[in-house]
Amino acid sequence: MKIPNRLAVVAALCVLSVSACAPNSSPTAAVPTPTLTPTTSTPTPTPVAVVSTPSDPISIDLADGVIHNKLYTAGKVPAVRCSLPRPDLTSKAGMVAYAKVLVACMDKAWAPMVERSDAYLVPPEVFAYSMRHPEATPECLDPPANSDAFYHWSGMTGKICLEWEEFLDADDPVANLIDFEQLVAHEYGHHVQRSVGILTLYNELMRGKSEAGQLEVMRRKELQASCLGAAFLGANKQTFALSGRRLGIWRSIVQHVGDEYSTVRDHGSRKNHGYWTIRAFATTNPASCNTFTAPAKRVS
Ligand SMILES: [Zn+2]
Repeated sequence: MKIPNRLAVVAALCVLSVSACAPNSSPTAAVPTPTLTPTTSTPTPTPVAVVSTPSDPISIDLADGVIHNKLYTAGKVPAVRCSLPRPDLTSKAGMVAYAKVLVACMDKAWAPMVERSDAYLVPPEVFAYSMRHPEATPECLDPPANSDAFYHWSGMTGKICLEWEEFLDADDPVANLIDFEQLVAHEYGHHVQRSVGILTLYNELMRGKSEAGQLEVMRRKELQASCLGAAFLGANKQTFALSGRRLGIWRSIVQHVGDEYSTVRDHGSRKNHGYWTIRAFATTNPASCNTFTAPAKRVS
C-alpha cells in the first residue's frame, strides 16, 4: 500500500505561513503600554480624594488573541451545500480544479465562523507548484522541503500551494484522494487561523522563548490547523463520504501524520495529531481546537 510511503512525506506536510514558521522570526511591533487618562466628563463639585488612580499600566496582551480567540466560541462548523465533481488527481489541472472546489466549500463553511469571530474571510487562492521547477509558480516561491503543500499570505489574501506531483501515480486512488482532501483542509485551517488573527499574533507567543519553546508553539499552530480541517471534514462528512471504510482510511491517515517522519519537531507526534483531528471530526467545533491552552504533552 502506498500510503505509509506517501505519508512519510506527508508528515511534514502542511506547513506554515512562511513568515510565521521561522523559529527566529522577529517580533512584530512592540507591545504598546498606553497610560490611562482618567476621564471625568462631568465636573465633580467635591474633590475626590478617595478615587484611586490606576496604578497598573494597561498592557495589551497580544497573545490573548490567540488563547482566547472568539473562534473558540463561534459554534460548530456548518454542513454546507456543495457538490463535489468527479475528482481528477491525474494531472496538475485536474488537481487545481478539484482543490478549488474543495476550497469553495470551505469558504462557505468558514465564512460565518470567521464573522462570528469578529473578522472577515477573504477566500484564499489555490496554486500547484513543482519542486523541480518552483520558479514556474511565482505565487508559491521558496517551497519548503519535505512538504506536500504550504500556506502563505501575500498581496491581498492567502495562498494554498500544493505540490501536485506528490499526488500522481498513487497505488490507492481512494486513499490518495482522502489524503489530498485532508491536506487541503489543513492548509485551509491555516487560512482560518490567519483570518481570525491567530497566525498574526502567534509570533507574540514565540517571543523570548528558547528554541524548544518556539518549536512547541509551532506544534500548537500546526496541530490546530489540522484540528480545524478535521472539524470541517466532520461537519461535512456526508459530502466527503467519510464513513465506513473511507472514514477508516481517513483515521489511518491522520494517525500517520507526525514528526516521526521528519527531522524537525514542529508538527507534533502522530499520536497527538490523531488525538486533535479525530476529536474535532466528532465535535465539528473549533472549541475542540484550542491547542494553545493544552498541556505540553498534548502538543508534543
Ligand atoms: Zn501546516
